[in-house]
Order: sequence, then C-alpha cells, then structure tokens
Amino acid sequence: MKPVCSIKKSFKRSAGSFKLAKRFIPGGVNSPVRSFKAVGTTPLFISRAKGAYIHDVDGNSFIDYVMSWGPMILGHADERVEKSVVRILRQGASFGAPTGKETELARLIADIYPSIKKVRLTSSGTEAAMSAIRLARAYTGREKILKFEGCYHGHADSLLVKAGSGAATFGVPSSLGVNKTTARDTITVPFNDIERFEDAVSEERGNLACVIVEPIPANMGVVLPKPGFLERLRQITKKNGIVLIFDEVITGFRVALGGAQELYGIHPDLTILGKILGGGFPIGAFGGRTEIMELLAPDGPVYQAGTLSGNPVAVEAGIVTIRILMRNKIYDKLQHLGDVFESGLERILGRRPRGVILQRCASLFTIFFTKDKEVLNYKDALACDTDAFALFFRGMLKRGIYFAPSQFEANFISAKHSLKDIEETLEACERSLARA
Ligand SMILES: *Cc1c(COP(=O)(O)O)cnc(C)c1O
Repeated sequence: MKPVCSIKKSFKRSAGSFKLAKRFIPGGVNSPVRSFKAVGTTPLFISRAKGAYIHDVDGNSFIDYVMSWGPMILGHADERVEKSVVRILRQGASFGAPTGKETELARLIADIYPSIKKVRLTSSGTEAAMSAIRLARAYTGREKILKFEGCYHGHADSLLVKAGSGAATFGVPSSLGVNKTTARDTITVPFNDIERFEDAVSEERGNLACVIVEPIPANMGVVLPKPGFLERLRQITKKNGIVLIFDEVITGFRVALGGAQELYGIHPDLTILGKILGGGFPIGAFGGRTEIMELLAPDGPVYQAGTLSGNPVAVEAGIVTIRILMRNKIYDKLQHLGDVFESGLERILGRRPRGVILQRCASLFTIFFTKDKEVLNYKDALACDTDAFALFFRGMLKRGIYFAPSQFEANFISAKHSLKDIEETLEACERSLARA
C-alpha cells in the first residue's frame, strides 16, 4: 500500500521560518501550543491543506488530526464552503451593521439546540465564555463562579484558574498577571467528583453565580463524564438557583449535531459555542434562556459588544457547514471511522504491556500515556508520562501523521478522513508505540 503521506525532505524551511518568526512574534507563534515546545521539537510551518491532509513549507504531507483544533469537521478547504465564502466576500467583508444571515445562523442554532432561545455571536470562544459569565453574575446578583480543574474556557482572567489546554501543557495552573482578587472569585473542583462539587456548592451556596463546564472535557485530553455526573450538576444548580453553563466550543456540532447536551439529554441555562460554528473562520457564540439573554445590551444592563461580531464571512461559513452537517450522514461516518481506529488501536495495545490508553467520544480522541485504566480528571491527566508522549508524537510526525502536539489536547477525525487514512495512522501508531 502506497502511503498517502510522504516525508520527502527535511524540516529545514520550517526551522528557518520559526527562527525568523521568533524575532517578531513572542515565541514565534500566535497561540502557545503551536510552538511544539511540549513535544521537544519545533513547529511545522504550513503552506496549505486540503481534505484530511496538511502540507508544510518543506513539501512534506501529513494526515492531519489537529484540523485547526476542531473547526474543520468537513475537512480542509471544502469546496462548498469555499464557494459560498468567496461569493459573500465579493459583497463586502464587514459592515458593522446587521445582516439577515446573522438571524439565519441564530435560528439554525436555536433549532438544533432546544436549550438556546436567543444567541449572540462573538469573534471567539474566549469572548463568548467571558460574556456568559458576566451575564450569569448579572442575572443572579452573585459574584463567584465554579469551574472544573483542567477545563479550558478561553483566556479571560477569571477563567485562567487551573485551566487546561496550553495552560496545562506548560504547567501554569494560573497565569501571571491575573489578580489574586479575580482568582479568588473562581472556585475549582476536580471533574467527575460529585461529592467535592456538592461540598463546594453548600459552602458557597448564596455566592455562586454560575457553574461552567466542558460537558466532555477535551482540553486536558479527552475525559468522559462518569454516568450521572452531568445530570447531578443540572439538578444541584437548578435547586440552588445557579446558572449552569455548558462550554460546547469543542463538543458542539462535534460529538453530535446538538453537542454533548443532545447526547446526554441535558438542558443547560447557557451554552457557549465556537470552532465548528465558524467553519474555519473566527467566531464564538453564547446563548440560552430568554430571561437571561434579555439582560444583554441594548435590551438590558449587561454590556457586551464586538466590531467584527457576526462577521458576514464567518457567519456564511458557519451556515454552510451546519447545513451540510444536517443533511448528510456525517456523524455516522465519523462514528464508524472512530470505531475502526479504536478497535485497531486496542489490537495494537493488547500486544503491549499496560501504559497507553485511548479515550474517545465519536470523532474526538486522546491517546494517554498512563498506567491507570482511565483518566477521569486533571490530576490523572497530569500524572501521564509526557516524555513518552513526546517520543510517540515525534515518531508519528516522522511517519506522516500530524497529531495534536501535547498530551493534554484532543485529536479530531473529519468527514474527509478515509478508512485508508485510518489504517495508515494505525500502522504508524504500531511502529511509534514500539519505540515509545
Ligand atoms: C477553544 C476553546 C475555547 C476558546 O475559544 P477561542 O475561539 O480559542 O477563544 C473555549 N472553550 C473551549 C472548550 C475551547 O475548546
């Protein structure tokens, strides 16, 4: 079988580009995890991508499982998205005035997510999470928030406490520059620990504005909620008048069209969306119950705004992407590809001593280097062997597979990945694991 992906040359041009970038951009990158620092190497500079494949400036090709960290569920440079976006772009990139397309996207979101009655668009998930929290504080008249260790909700100050993603990768549990007083209002509890959660709620009962959670955390690597965990969060928050916020920036339109809330049948009060929602363009959204959303300016007293919010290009890319996701049996295909990968990997892992596990939901997965049977929370994730992971990552890269460059991130299968791609990936896994 001829491999789809080929590593022909060195990584010389990428190395040169990185050196130059570092002179003008802090760390040479515009988002820390891209630096490959956690895996002991330097980043690839990308020239282009198509479908499931990504190509670097040295002419190497890879099967991509980063997929821009989730948004490219249809694969890179999907022709249908591209065509619509070009058409819209010709009519003007941005107006700073309303367009009907924004209503169309809002309506689609409300149709797919029954918990969302009204929704506001932003330019990033970070902004959406930050604004949802402001809204929850205004609605309840309370100041404290509760988040789970290892969950990432963007980089707003109050959410950079025991955050996952890049913050986990670099072992900075809370960033410098975040005021102690701000951090004090953020309570953190281990994910999947309902007792600790109940204790925290009874201690802070009258002070908690909201509980924010990634229903399926993907920013400490993929972690699955224990049966009943999310249901209890819903019950307890409801009982105590606390706003429950599901951050579905990754899981929305990914684990199912209607996200984790569709899978688990739970209605949060507010939901945060992003990533797939913009079809590869910058976007975020927060929405939920009418009585909460109506507090937003200009109807209400909670200020929130954005020069490029509801940008026509991003909105169009989102609408086209979602309509394709609605029409086709894409989620069945993604599930199948994930199943094939999982059973193939189990076969490979069965022949090795313990030390590596796969955690997965549909097309979202992480390979953890752990001696434990399961990673249930941030502490478990941090106990993983990141050196073994780095060795594995570099082995995969050498074999033409572009996995997420950190133990604490998720990998994404797209609709353009083929069974042949999965087979090739499994072969590379087998070889790389033999050395890791
Ligand atoms: C990516 C992400 C965010 C932040 O979104 P940005 O668009 O990067 O600001 C928030 N929450 C979760 C769960 C994410 O994965």
